[in-house]
Amino acid sequence: METIEISDSSFLIQSLNNLDKGDNTFECMSCGACTSSCSWFEGEGGPVPRQIIKMARMGLDEQLIKSGMLWDCLLCNRCTQNCPMGITMSKVVRKARSHPDAGNLISEDIQKGIKSRLSTGDVNGLTKEEFVETIEWMSEEFADELCDPKAKIPYDQEGAKFLYLPNPRELGINLMHLTAMAKIFYASHESWTMSSKHTDVTNWGYFVSDDAIAKEMALMVIEPAEKLGIQTLVLSECGHGYHVLKVMAEQLIGRKPTFEVISMPEFILRCVENKTITLNKDLHPYPIAYHDPCNLGRKSGLFDAPRQLLALCCKEVVELLPNRENAICCGGGGGMLQDSKSFNKRMITGKAKADQIIKSGVDCVAAPCLSCNRQLGDISKHYKLGVKVDTIAALASKSLVIG
Ligand code: SF4
Ligand code: SF4
Repeated sequence: METIEISDSSFLIQSLNNLDKGDNTFECMSCGACTSSCSWFEGEGGPVPRQIIKMARMGLDEQLIKSGMLWDCLLCNRCTQNCPMGITMSKVVRKARSHPDAGNLISEDIQKGIKSRLSTGDVNGLTKEEFVETIEWMSEEFADELCDPKAKIPYDQEGAKFLYLPNPRELGINLMHLTAMAKIFYASHESWTMSSKHTDVTNWGYFVSDDAIAKEMALMVIEPAEKLGIQTLVLSECGHGYHVLKVMAEQLIGRKPTFEVISMPEFILRCVENKTITLNKDLHPYPIAYHDPCNLGRKSGLFDAPRQLLALCCKEVVELLPNRENAICCGGGGGMLQDSKSFNKRMITGKAKADQIIKSGVDCVAAPCLSCNRQLGDISKHYKLGVKVDTIAALASKSLVIG
């Protein structure tokens, strides 16, 4: 039988023991409540949260890293909801992912994306010149579509009040989403801009738990935005992007950014409340289910604004129960969706969400996160749910009354 050496000077024991009270693994009672609430619980493989905690606090660094559990964790914190000691699993797993020996297990796709993001400002490697060319061309189409030669998608406008930070997909395979967001800004008559220097709301430094990289990526957004003198940074619908730029930014960069950070649904809701835009809910005369993205809801506390906005865009908002703090992860979090080899795993972790959607009986699901949307679309196809998936802001744009 193999003898396992337990070292109390291990990286994990040293670093996890330093976590705040409530997140300290040494407070774990081994009750197993976390394990039964994990998205992997009824599926094959995946992390066993109680085991992660046990291995970490025994200093079994090498065994834990080799187990693969760290990279299968969705960082969703659903298990944390049920932990009587309140141990925040995403903090434990992120700390363990930052182990010096864990780096070579990072997926090739994530490594490549991080390299591109750090060199160009975009995870897909879109250069500044390509950004300008894309936006100039889109602007022309936008003016034609709205029959208004003054309508445009502005960029690098100093003194604009709002800066829109897109998801990289909006400058690649989902240009229509960017046009939909531009329509909302156009209808609001607010001064807004995009920036050719930072074109990406995502921050994969968060997934790999390298705070130096996460900080650099956050600063790549924050510093040019401050130079433009904006008042509010409006984030494209992105769960982890919101969590990093809204919740973690101050701790990451050591100061508060000079502007406010909000998500696109929050911006639209403000416009409706200020009566600068009008929405027509009759355009979606059917119930739509709301999915709570873990990073936006449970981890950042944004529950109500997207729901309120959705209620203004459709006949009825259907809750996928359990919801809000107890919501079930879509199954694509923690960097899983960004790994092209993860499809089979994602379909296992998405099964509980698929079951929830079936139970709700809806034909349409909306989530304020483009990553959740992609995962929900994949599980809809895989489990033959036949549901249409949209973002909240895209639904609002379709409901917009212009003119
Ligand atoms: S954070 Fe989510 S995926 Fe990770 S162990 Fe907890 S419930 Fe499972
Ligand atoms: S629920 Fe909390 S206390 Fe119980 S085993 Fe999991 S981490 Fe430990």
